[in-house]
Parts: sequence; structure tokens; C-alpha cells
Amino acid sequence: MRKYPLRLLLRLGDFARVILCFALLLSTAVATRVERLIDTWKPTHYLVNITLNDQLSEITSASTRVYVKILKPTHVIDLDFGELTIDRITLDSKPVKFTHADGKLLVDLPSPGKVGDSIVLTIDYHGKPKNGLILTKDKDGKPSAVGDNWPNRVHHWIPSLDHPSAKATVTFNITAPAGQEVVANGRLDHVETSSGGQRTWTFSESAPIPPYCMIIAVGQFAREVPTQSSVTPLSYYVPQSEKQLALKGFAPTNSTVEFFTKTIAPYPYEKLAMIVGATSFGGMENSSAIVFTANMLSRPAQSSGVSKTYGIPAANVGLIAHEIAHQWFGDSVTESTWADLWLSEGFATYFGNLFVQRYEGEDVFQLYMKQAATNVFAFEKKKLTPIHDRETEDLMDLLNAMNYQKGAWVLHMLRSNLGDEAFFRGIRNYYAAHKNSTASTEDLRRALEKASGRDLRAFFTRWVYDSGHPQYELRWQWLHQSELKLVLRQIQSGNAFLDPVQVVITTASGKRDVLLKPSGKQLIQTIRLNDKPLSIDIDPQNVLLDEATVKGI
Ligand SMILES: [Zn+2]
Repeated sequence: MRKYPLRLLLRLGDFARVILCFALLLSTAVATRVERLIDTWKPTHYLVNITLNDQLSEITSASTRVYVKILKPTHVIDLDFGELTIDRITLDSKPVKFTHADGKLLVDLPSPGKVGDSIVLTIDYHGKPKNGLILTKDKDGKPSAVGDNWPNRVHHWIPSLDHPSAKATVTFNITAPAGQEVVANGRLDHVETSSGGQRTWTFSESAPIPPYCMIIAVGQFAREVPTQSSVTPLSYYVPQSEKQLALKGFAPTNSTVEFFTKTIAPYPYEKLAMIVGATSFGGMENSSAIVFTANMLSRPAQSSGVSKTYGIPAANVGLIAHEIAHQWFGDSVTESTWADLWLSEGFATYFGNLFVQRYEGEDVFQLYMKQAATNVFAFEKKKLTPIHDRETEDLMDLLNAMNYQKGAWVLHMLRSNLGDEAFFRGIRNYYAAHKNSTASTEDLRRALEKASGRDLRAFFTRWVYDSGHPQYELRWQWLHQSELKLVLRQIQSGNAFLDPVQVVITTASGKRDVLLKPSGKQLIQTIRLNDKPLSIDIDPQNVLLDEATVKGI
């Protein structure tokens, strides 16, 4: 990332300016992560032709056409591209010069690109990708080739602008030996058999998707099609030995799609494939072609228990719901920067949990939210970073309790604060405004403010842009047989949380609710009370992400 601005700056020939800019770059790079954002050009479409060898161990030949729109005058299209061997690059069928080093492919334009120009670069290449496209054996020992790109590994097999904000449509022509099943993003247009017995499968994704979601999966899959289906086509691709497990193992799929369709909006893609294959994650939400870890269907329930609705490990119900929720949040509405990753992971975690609440019951939902809180507290004991993290350099480190569990909790608290009607209306409006595009944390804030009529700046500042969680210490004192003095202190480091705190006072004559509204780190409130409290509880409905101790003096 940091090599690119230096190279282009050198073209300016202003050495003093280069030194100054480079010094500035170094000084800011220490504090803020540098992201590969859209600048001088953007991809609008990729046409990816790949031919695999018989063992699926290598790309025999590939040709990717990148459809480019010029946004600023430029002589160079700077693509991300890994170590595969480039055979040639053409523009309008004429070879062009290029430099390929350190994951960058700089293509020189024969004439300068002007704002608004559309050009098509064709990159021919071959070889064995070091990453991104996993060429391995499936659990039956059969060869397979499966894309696994998060966060920025697609450029190891597709020359691209490898940042989630650079969304584009994609067409795949995948040529593989007969006997291999192929699936990729989007609609299956056709399959052609060549004279040599190979087959070429054409898939087209007509909605722009983030590059990390662009995948193919090739292997000797068994393909199962459920009888009931909310998305057409809906199919499950599993190793041959797991054919009997597929329909039951993926049973929650249909209800999940229906639930999110009702809660958010119609399913955004042309089909849905649920694939068991090679991924370094538990599940990877590639648009319309989700890949799950190889042992998903065969693993025992273990600590998560068995789903009472589906009779499969409860963890798998949550995983399926999480990955399907991503089709709306992450895939269709994509985080505009890595700092906004919680708009993908926090949403998938919370909406996955909402499905669990509806289909597995309130108890399971509450348990998941409590476990999520425990994860956040454990993480924040070790490290205090905001959800909106602009510093962490290793993107894999962003797969943490801030983006997942704390992000989910932020949504849970917003829902509790705003009420279901305003919250879900705001979410639906946010989705509608940004589907097939990108969104920032500020876009979400504004949508929820519009739906609720509330000013949420202080809430977002404290919960999303700042770190930590409230640690309440409530001390109470029974005075003059008629008054209760409450002292609520926040003992966490950093600023106060101004969220209202519900307190329930239990006395011999019943329960009484009191809503404390802190304006700083200490609040003292005296209330009239006829009986001495027997007990006092903070946040009994568990709508705040907090730790609390209560003590009578
Ligand atoms: Zn996720």
C-alpha cells in the first residue's frame, strides 16, 4: 500500500515535494491505517476466464477483462495482482506496457485516460495462485478449487482493485474437466462441452459485489436441491460422502432467507448456493455462493447443544443465519472502509441472533447476547480499541469482539433505545439507500436519526468511535426510614456513558422501576421510598452492555 503513492509521486518530478509528502505519509502512517481506496479509476465489471488443469492444481490459462471507468486524468491503471505469470496485457487488442512487482500491476496507458473514459484491459496469465484460490483435496480426497478471499486476497488470482469499496459486477467462464461441478457468484447462464471433453461454465453476477466475495468453487460435489425454496435456485454443494447430510444440515436456510426478506428487504441475488468446501473461516459469505468449513455437516454439537427446531448443532443454525444475513449486510450494503467493518460483521452477528430469537426462542437469544457481552469484556480487558478502528494494520486482527459482538450489542442497544418500529424502519431505509453500494457508520447514524427523530451523535461517539464499556458501581443508602440515596459511579477509564440505566428496587411491598440518567461519571439521586430495599438490580432486562456491582451501605 505505501509503495504506490511514492511511485506515482515520483512521476511528478518534483523531488522536494516527494520528500515532503513521503515524510507526511510516514508520520500519519504510524497512527492511521492506509487503505487502498478508489481514487483515479474504478472497476465496473470483471470478465474472468479461467481454465483449470485435470488435477485442479493449477490455472492452465486465464484471461481477465477489467472494465475500467476513469475518475481522474491518469497515465496508469494500478491494479492489485499477486505472483501469477502474466503472458500479456492488451487494450483494444493492442499490447500495452506494464510493471508487475510486489502485488502491484501498473499498466501504462498509451494515451492518458480522461475523466469519464471507459476502457477495457485484458490481462492474460497462468500459474498456481499462492493464495485466494485454494487448490486442495476435499474431505473425500478429491481435487477441488475454491475461492477464499477475505479480506484482500482475490488479487492473488484475479487482477483487481482489491478493496471492499471497489464493487463491480462479475462474469466467470470456468473451464474444468468433465465430471467436475462448478459454481460461482450469480446466475448460471450456460454450460458448454468442448470437443476435448472439458466443460465451460458461465456464471454472471449482475449486482456489484465486493471483490472479497468473488469466488468459484470447483470439485466433485454432490448437489442437493431442497423441495421448499424461497430463493430460486437454492442448492447445496457438499462432498459426495456427505450427500445424505446436506438437506438436514442446511435445513434452516429457507426460513432464514424468508426471515430476512420480511425483516429487511427481498434477497439481493439471483440464486443461493450453500457450499461445503475449502475456507479458512467457519463460513465465508461470498455473494450468492456461501462456503462453509469442511467439517460443518459432520461435527458433533458439543457445547452449543442441539437445535430444538432443526435437530442439528445449534452453532450451525447460528452460523447459517450469520452468513445468510451477510448477503444483505456486507455483500449488498458493503462497508466503505475497513473501519466500518462492523456494518458487516456486527450486523451479521445481530441479525443472525434475531433469527435465533425467532426460531430457537428468547432464552437462546439471551444466552447468545450474554456470551457476546462476555467476549467483549474479555477483549477489552486486554486491549481498548474502538469499534471504528482506523489503526490496526493487520486486517485479520479486525475479526475481533469489537466488530462482531460489540457491534451486535450496539445494534441491540439502539433497538432498545429507539423501539422496534423506529429501529427496523431505520434499518430498512438504510439498506434501501445503500444496497448494491457501500455505507459508512455515519450513513447508519443518519438513517436511524431520521427514522427516530433522535440525535444519536453522542451515542455513536461513545459506543462506536470511542472504546470501553460502562462499569457501574451502584451504592445505596436507606435514610430516615423514608428515602433511598443512590450513588451511581462509572469506574471505567475514559469518558462517561450517558445511556439511561434502569434500576429495579425490590421492597417488601413490591418492585419499583427507576430510570437513572447520568450526565457524567457520578450521579447521586435521592428518591422517596416507604420500605427498606431488599435488593436492587441494574439493567434487569439486559439491554445495556455493562458490568455492574450493587452494594448497600
Ligand atoms: Zn461474518
